[in-house]
Amino acid sequence: MKQYDYVIVGSGIAGLYTALLAKEHGSVLVITKGSMDDCNTKYAQGGIAAPIGRGDSPELHFEDTIAAGDGLCDEEMVRILVNEATDCIGDLVNLGMPFDTLDGEIALAREAAHSVPRILHAGGDATGEHIEVTLSNQVRSSKIQVLEDSLATKILIEKGTVKGVEVLDCRTGSIEEFGCRFLILATGGAGQLFKFTTNSDVATGDGIALAFNAGAAITDMEFYQFHPTALRLPKVIPFLISEAVRGEGGILRNIEGHPFMPDYTPDGDLAPRDIVARSILYEMDKTGLDKVFIDVTHLPPRTITTRFPHIYRFCLKHGIDITKDLIPVAPAAHYMIGGIKTNSWGETNIAGLFACGETACTAVHGANRLASNSLLEAVVFSKRIIKKTSKKVKIKAPATDQGAKVYHSLSQRQAPQAVPAPRLSALQTLHRDKVGIIRNKKGLTQAADILAAWQKSLPQPTDRPSYELSNLILTGRLVTEAALLREDSRGTHFRSDFPQNSSQWQHHIVFAKWAQ
Ligand SMILES: Cc1cc2nc3c(=O)[nH]c(=O)nc-3n(C[C@H](O)[C@H](O)[C@H](O)COP(=O)(O)OP(=O)(O)OC[C@H]3O[C@@H](n4cnc5c(N)ncnc54)[C@H](O)[C@@H]3O)c2cc1C
Repeated sequence: MKQYDYVIVGSGIAGLYTALLAKEHGSVLVITKGSMDDCNTKYAQGGIAAPIGRGDSPELHFEDTIAAGDGLCDEEMVRILVNEATDCIGDLVNLGMPFDTLDGEIALAREAAHSVPRILHAGGDATGEHIEVTLSNQVRSSKIQVLEDSLATKILIEKGTVKGVEVLDCRTGSIEEFGCRFLILATGGAGQLFKFTTNSDVATGDGIALAFNAGAAITDMEFYQFHPTALRLPKVIPFLISEAVRGEGGILRNIEGHPFMPDYTPDGDLAPRDIVARSILYEMDKTGLDKVFIDVTHLPPRTITTRFPHIYRFCLKHGIDITKDLIPVAPAAHYMIGGIKTNSWGETNIAGLFACGETACTAVHGANRLASNSLLEAVVFSKRIIKKTSKKVKIKAPATDQGAKVYHSLSQRQAPQAVPAPRLSALQTLHRDKVGIIRNKKGLTQAADILAAWQKSLPQPTDRPSYELSNLILTGRLVTEAALLREDSRGTHFRSDFPQNSSQWQHHIVFAKWAQ
């Protein structure tokens, strides 16, 4: 078995940035299931938040993040996030990241629920693409080894400590094992659980399934963030219409042209994502239409084309000139707030196993992620993994039960009478209908029963699609069971049968395979 100091699974911002830092401290292998740039990172539009502007401060960024998190942010983690942001932005600049500038200084945009302009962006609304190109160019020109079309299928553990990872070569179907001292999961989210998602095809919850099966704790899975505004056109992918569009003055209107957001909240169009997403659903319900509209026609066309060139071009390609026409939008699954439970050094409860980026849960987002904090979280906590592992200390499993009242297991369930065949499309429809923006006990129970039956009936996976389906079913079970347990509404989790936020539920729900 080939041995490395670091094996990193995933090649989005978390995986590549970690690899570039790790190479200074040992040998590095990056494993990625598609080509290097198959990831969510390259789709990020709005940008990366950091308190670098005049009139801004880590304290203000801290307050905005805590306010959005609806009682569940880990304050120590948020302090780290905002205090170490500027250092990581400096790293990105040094790596060649071409942030947009204005009068010789980095330009900052404002997004919903940020009290000041604090979002760094590149190429207008092509921030993620620039991040991915910058980091992957650096990785390609370094001694880091990258294995593409390689799917991590199992974490190898000996006496409670990580020894390596099993990998499927997606082109030949052969299996190979790689040994390492530190295994870092940077596998991204699980948007493919839902019928409408802004996520790439690779977002299938693989890291969650790998870690859970190995015995790692998984937390906050009931909090799945839906982006309120993805393009809704027949036969067109739900392309993201960034929050920054409303930040620049875009107005949500219903089919009658009525600007409806002020009817729901005094924050109007700049309210937090969960409130905007639910308001849009109510409005769609009222008007009987599967969409609402964003209006930017009152903005100078030049502002639109220079600030949002990517959105402008994408919509134009599909027949909508956003300088003149309204943009049809609806909510879509966007960001997995929960994930593999990590401490402030990216450590899981398994010695040698680390996680960063969207697959990890540091609890900086609480119950609701503040826009543009996820790219920041990825770099800040990835860097801390390397700070931790570069010291010559013996790595042992830390206690990571901060905030957990009890650990839950995935219980057995009674198989329902009629269970559809376990297919990706059925799974996505099930999650959209029963585990979506507005949930209740009846729907969640139906979904939980079906998912448990699917998990039982699945044969051993053999190729990438069958592994991904199996991982999605397990991830979906964790989302659904957590949503069923949490009998209150907060952040992105809204139960129509428990619409109030209850102090009894101001704690995290954690699952582990070994829980009683
Ligand atoms: C449309 C869109 C817009 C967004 N805009 C913003 C924004 O403006 N600001 C912001 O902060 N956040 C934004 N986000 C969220 C942010 O982009 C993501 O949270 C972040 O990029 C995740 O980075 P990551 O490295 O954790 O995962 P990803 O970039 O998704 O990378 C995951 C990697 O893991 C690989 N992988 C997965 N499973 C396996 C496996 N089993 N074996 C091998 N490889 C595997 C994948 O192939 C991929 O390379 C946006 C997300 C989307 C979808």
